[in-house]
Amino acid sequence: MLQTVSLAELARRFTSDLSHLEQVAAVYPCRISSYYAGLITAPHDPIWRQCVPSVEELDDTVQLPDPLDEERLSPVPGLIHRYPDRAVLLVSNRCATYCRFCMRKRKVGCSGGETDLPAAYAYIAATPQLRDIILSGGEPLMLPDDELHQILSTLRRIPHVEIIRIGSRIPVTDPSRITPALCRMLAEHHPLYLNTHFNHPQELTPESARACSLLASAGIQLGNQTVLLKGVNDDSLTMQKLLTGLLRLRVRPYYLHQMDLVRGTAHFRTSLEQGRQLISSLRGRVSGMAIPHFVIDLPGGRGKVPVLPDTLQRDGVVWLVQTSSGEWVRYADPV
Ligand SMILES: *Cc1c(COP(=O)(O)O)cnc(C)c1O
Ligand code: SF4
Repeated sequence: MLQTVSLAELARRFTSDLSHLEQVAAVYPCRISSYYAGLITAPHDPIWRQCVPSVEELDDTVQLPDPLDEERLSPVPGLIHRYPDRAVLLVSNRCATYCRFCMRKRKVGCSGGETDLPAAYAYIAATPQLRDIILSGGEPLMLPDDELHQILSTLRRIPHVEIIRIGSRIPVTDPSRITPALCRMLAEHHPLYLNTHFNHPQELTPESARACSLLASAGIQLGNQTVLLKGVNDDSLTMQKLLTGLLRLRVRPYYLHQMDLVRGTAHFRTSLEQGRQLISSLRGRVSGMAIPHFVIDLPGGRGKVPVLPDTLQRDGVVWLVQTSSGEWVRYADPV
């Protein structure tokens, strides 16, 4: 059973009045696992910012609830099919902790908009180009082992589904959910990839390390998707600690996401230029293995695009290439 803390308990712990946040939680649900709340060291620290509601969420009324047009791109409710060969199946709309910056803020923790699983299986089975299915939500690992096993087995019976990915923040928000029994079950469904979601070095705890180690030892390839968040991880040193710490946990950084233009999340947004400078600041300074792709997911469901530093210029037939220390070097392709 997931242990959670209420806003009232949090208020007592930090002797602050949080009653005004109940109105925010009435619009965008609040849930904080006891484990994750335990990582907070002071009010408004990077953990607090990620999980405790803020009145600023209600100030943001300009952006759209679903800027990536996921609903329009769903041929059946709960299956998002944007790219030719892969699709996202939303298998749960609950999470162990609701992140205040969530790109599916419009639906996580809310009722309605349930996935039509039989229709989704039928669509996947009838669409042979789908070779990669991504289980997301919400949080797939909020499902009991047997339900998850059922979903994975059903997908595995579709011959053209080659790989299955799970998107899960459970190793960060409720690591004790990762049990040897869960890992044994998952290992029956290889090739299986799991992308988790660490955003700050304070989240790299012994409990999380144990969860990642269990998953990795079950042969599951672990990646990480970080969201670039103002006041949480938008400085180079924090990002370096996070990314190199992830490699120690056997997790390979995969994506660094520019915040989506989702309603209720404006107070987390950084500029595209800031993100680009941040990612350039890492190159040459930390292992290439630690550096994720910095991507922007374009509005209107146009997909993810990598944002790269300007390291290339053409000078006639030769190239000018900028090194990580800023020097421009001439490079000519051999004739
Ligand atoms: C991000 C995303 C994917 C997966 O993209 P990759 O670049 O392959 O990781 C697939 N479908 C949708 C709708 C997505 O948003
Ligand atoms: S765990 Fe993922 S789906 Fe759930 S609230 Fe956080 S970002 Fe959203």
